[in-house]
Amino acid sequence: MNSNKKGLNTICTHVGELEDKQHKGAVSPLYMSTSYAYEDVDVKRYPRYFNTPNQEGLCKKVAALEHAESALIFGSGMAAVSTSLLAFLSAGDHVVLQQTLYGGTYNLINEEFSKYGIEYSFTTGWSAADFEAEIKENTKVIYIETPSNPLLTITDLEAIATLAKKHSLISMIDNTFASPVNQNPIDFGIDVVIHSATKYMGGHSDICAGAVASTTENMERIFHLAKNFGGSLSDYTVWLLERSIKTMGIRVKAQNENALAMAHYLNELEDVEKVYYPGLPSHKDHDIAKKQMKGFGGMLSFELNTNLDASKFQKALQLIKPSMSLAGVESTVLSPTQTSHALMSAEVRAEQGISDGLIRFSLGIEEIEDLKNDIQQALNSIK
Ligand SMILES: *Cc1c(COP(=O)(O)O)cnc(C)c1O
Repeated sequence: MNSNKKGLNTICTHVGELEDKQHKGAVSPLYMSTSYAYEDVDVKRYPRYFNTPNQEGLCKKVAALEHAESALIFGSGMAAVSTSLLAFLSAGDHVVLQQTLYGGTYNLINEEFSKYGIEYSFTTGWSAADFEAEIKENTKVIYIETPSNPLLTITDLEAIATLAKKHSLISMIDNTFASPVNQNPIDFGIDVVIHSATKYMGGHSDICAGAVASTTENMERIFHLAKNFGGSLSDYTVWLLERSIKTMGIRVKAQNENALAMAHYLNELEDVEKVYYPGLPSHKDHDIAKKQMKGFGGMLSFELNTNLDASKFQKALQLIKPSMSLAGVESTVLSPTQTSHALMSAEVRAEQGISDGLIRFSLGIEEIEDLKNDIQQALNSIK
């Protein structure tokens, strides 16, 4: 099956699947060959050319999920991010980036870009005007991430796409937090969509992978660099990721529901100072989120009252695990100050609204009552 016009869960289950002609098995056969015939063939296949049968099948599925013409699967989210950015940026070029980005992306830019002679600016605010203020004569790319990490701030996709077109720039988004289930940026005019497939696409905290989707023309440009950089994914993991994505639609919808219910629950608790979730009408960007998201996602953040110790609270949780990553079927929490944003100075953190007591919460698919009970018993035990 190979159509962009099917519904979400049909795409998740079937698009790009390979036929088992030999045994008529129900799932895609796994081809682990790193060596293929070169004579009398249409395509010269090689894993680092991103064109083994399993890679090509999964690329079709990801392209269909993001309403794109074409897609590529990478060995990690950062391989996808770095290859996409560098495919459109050369020495002397400039890129405008959203102020709060995934830590690894921030490090890539901060630690590597000057070596390649690439200039960059981070925005000071979130509006299209804030992005436009940073555009220079040599700007080539605008890069955003929405919802953002960890405060779930929303950037207006349509406004950024319009701005990029006005200045003939390539717009790129890291769509990891939303997942293709909740947000399809290409529908709003964004050019290049990037995912850390380690998160919602994998969904079981056991796969590290990345993905990029765009037009055929843009993907050819990204592929050209990708085969030189060599960030391809092993066929075994490609096969596992195909299997994982089959349930992504139902997983993410369950996570959306749990996150919305948990956001309302936390919002009512006296021990909680503030909840950040784009699905709450009180969230500052709720209206933009409603316009561009199909669901509000499985991620939220909250602050306990300052008299409560956030670190003790996390240790007191029994079902929900403090954990570095996110988006698995199991619920996890993380303290940005201790982990993803630890290298940032306390002042910059304060400027960006990231308090020491902030807890980022990745909702899994457990029963919501069990999750609420775990929060309540942890709060009781630290008071
Ligand atoms: C995890 C993550 C990445 C990086 O992905 P890896 O698979 O760890 O390389 C990029 N962006 C966001 C938003 C992420 O959460």
